[in-house]
Amino acid sequence: MPPKLKRFVSPGKGNGLRATVRIRRGELVYSAEPLACCVSNKLARDVCHHCFSRRENLLRCSQCKMARYCNTTCQKQAWCGHKTECKCLKSLRPRVPTDSVRLAARLIFALLSPSKSSSEELYTLEEHESHLSSMSENKKQGLSQLASMLELYVQQEVPDLAQEGASALPPSCRDPLSLIAKVTCNCFTISDGELQEIGVGLYPSLSLLNHDCWPNCVMVFVGTKLQLRAVRDINPEEELTISYIETLSSTEERRRQLEDQYHFTCRCQHCDSQDKDGLMLSGHKSTWDPLKEALPRLEGLKAESDWQALLEGCSHLLSTVGCDVSDENVYKLRMTDMAADACIHLGHWEEAVGYGEKTLPVYRDIKALRGEYIRKQRRSYKIRANTTRILIPSTGSSW
Ligand SMILES: [Zn+2]
Ligand SMILES: [Zn+2]
Ligand SMILES: [Zn+2]
Repeated sequence: MPPKLKRFVSPGKGNGLRATVRIRRGELVYSAEPLACCVSNKLARDVCHHCFSRRENLLRCSQCKMARYCNTTCQKQAWCGHKTECKCLKSLRPRVPTDSVRLAARLIFALLSPSKSSSEELYTLEEHESHLSSMSENKKQGLSQLASMLELYVQQEVPDLAQEGASALPPSCRDPLSLIAKVTCNCFTISDGELQEIGVGLYPSLSLLNHDCWPNCVMVFVGTKLQLRAVRDINPEEELTISYIETLSSTEERRRQLEDQYHFTCRCQHCDSQDKDGLMLSGHKSTWDPLKEALPRLEGLKAESDWQALLEGCSHLLSTVGCDVSDENVYKLRMTDMAADACIHLGHWEEAVGYGEKTLPVYRDIKALRGEYIRKQRRSYKIRANTTRILIPSTGSSW
């Protein structure tokens, strides 16, 4: 099948990808396996390090005591990619390097292993931006620490990145600082069916996708495979875009986040027109401010997977302050979403559907959030499937 996309130079944005044919809404545009990926440290005990399924009672690698697998089949299939990492993890125990360091190391091992071919890539790692020149001193310092950690971590297997063992690496990947910078700027967050972040991965060709706050494509993951799907009809030659950030925020917040994290000022149509800001910030500031103020703390609970506390916090605020705020307000929407996430993890399926049903119409109506809408809709199908499974035995009725 001829590819539906090709590389081009996007005016003012550098490289980009555009459609070669007409693509319909919902259509699969491209799918890619990661060049390197890893389960995030936070979920290292809950997610299989091979297939990225979330399960209970995973088997633990007896060597590094870090990697976990569904069964011996997953473990065997993972071994080729894990064996070098395993020795490195073992050498640092009980310390575990950060996600970006582990991902950078997996990338080094993948590049050093002759079986890995990247000939089909539209884009090589060599071309990836490191953005080091436009980075603040503070950020650079943080990256330098990660780079030192990376050197220490891979020391046993690759004693000197710049030297002999690393001659198979592209020159720009032999400098740990530039490598770490490239990895952090170009990695994708891998999420599961419930849109929970479970890992990080590098998909070089898809790093060519430029950002738009009203994107025409969205990324979904099947295990570690990344699928790029169209969220609206796309004409031949039209640029393909995704959103690098949560689109559920005001123009000012989106621009700030993109500048901090991705080092550019967004000039998309959605930002220039400040479209939907009025709707997303609807209601008087004094009514929704308590929700906005509480979000960082609640997001912290989510990051720690403290679902019970998260649900209590969200449901309390939503049933008190939230009553006076319209459903379109972004802060209320984000909080309702988190409440749904918490319910899913606690197995409160019906309550999850209740929260999901509050947010779906808003995602559907604000067209700019269509990508989010499709992702959430997929999730809601999954919740429904779970609800059905739960309800059949408990009601005993025949369906
Ligand atoms: Zn597995
Ligand atoms: Zn291991
Ligand atoms: Zn924008």
